[in-house]
Amino acid sequence: MKKLCVVLDEREVQDNPFQPDMWRIVRRYPLTSDVNFYQARPVDVDEALKMNYLPGQFIMLSIPGEGEAPFCISSTPSRPGLLEFCIRKMGTLTSSLFDLKENQTVGIRGPYGNSFPIDKMEGKDIMIVAGGMGVAPLRSLLLYILDNRDRFGKVTYLHGAKNPGEMLFREEFFQLKERDDLNCLLTVDKDDTGKWTERTGLITTLFKELGPIDSKNTYAAVCGPPIMYKFVMENLVKLGIPKHQILMTLERRMKCGVGKCGHCAIEYLYTCIDGPVFTYWDVLHMKELIGRGVSDKVIA
Ligand SMILES: Cc1cc2nc3c(=O)[nH]c(=O)nc-3n(C[C@H](O)[C@H](O)[C@H](O)COP(=O)(O)OP(=O)(O)OC[C@H]3O[C@@H](n4cnc5c(N)ncnc54)[C@H](O)[C@@H]3O)c2cc1C
Repeated sequence: MKKLCVVLDEREVQDNPFQPDMWRIVRRYPLTSDVNFYQARPVDVDEALKMNYLPGQFIMLSIPGEGEAPFCISSTPSRPGLLEFCIRKMGTLTSSLFDLKENQTVGIRGPYGNSFPIDKMEGKDIMIVAGGMGVAPLRSLLLYILDNRDRFGKVTYLHGAKNPGEMLFREEFFQLKERDDLNCLLTVDKDDTGKWTERTGLITTLFKELGPIDSKNTYAAVCGPPIMYKFVMENLVKLGIPKHQILMTLERRMKCGVGKCGHCAIEYLYTCIDGPVFTYWDVLHMKELIGRGVSDKVIA
């Protein structure tokens, strides 16, 4: 009788969609004063190659007894075995995650959400526009494309930050600038160091440097602070990129990540399962996705 109970308990645990797996932090370093970078692998090393995900998906990250929240995956599935993510210190949970040290463990469940439509993007020119923390999901897409470079056309990467110290993955992008199969343009709103060698100005100033674009053959992927979308969308539409080929990854407050709790619902969409990647076309038809104030101006 006792044995039967144990078997049922195990089955319950296996069937529980909210049961996280334990992962170990194997590397951690600061990207800026309030954002840390982490690499993690499953405590059970045999599981390391079993995590399948696509660029644009997210995980639910937890510290037992403290809480759980969604975080973008910043690594690429083309480099399996490790998950990478960035944590910005915001409140209670992110402060605890921010203080995690190497060798400590965290709970991870997922991956969740849709992803960038990689199948449709293959063979097309790609433009990635990252502002501030928006680089977190877009780095996964960029690294995936670079690891499968022959499957994509021209690749342009635009990245803006407030100042040089706030640019996430700054050294990594400086290295990518050396590649001749990628047009990588970096800008900061303001150079407070006097040592910045790249562009200065808002991210939209980079659009002037793009040269001719085969717009109908281009997919654009954008992530950044809400205010950035208004100006970036104006530029992408002006370039003639079709609205269903402009992709935005959006953040809403989420609890369960699996479409059960309704926390992230907007009309008939759950951002956790129908998103977090939406097309500009979706946003035009559902203004609440990006916040009414911004989307009204975007549409205008
Ligand atoms: C799909 C998705 C992907 C995300 N990816 C990342 C990531 O890669 N890195 C990262 O650092 N964060 C990411 N976030 C945000 C992260 O989940 C929140 O910062 C986290 O929930 C805050 O938890 P906390 O307990 O530290 O903050 P709390 O104590 O709960 O809140 C602190 C403050 O932050 C505000 N806040 C918290 N969450 C959000 C939110 N989602 N939107 C707007 N304001 C919020 C609260 O209103 C409050 O003012 C993502 C969110 C989503 C939905």
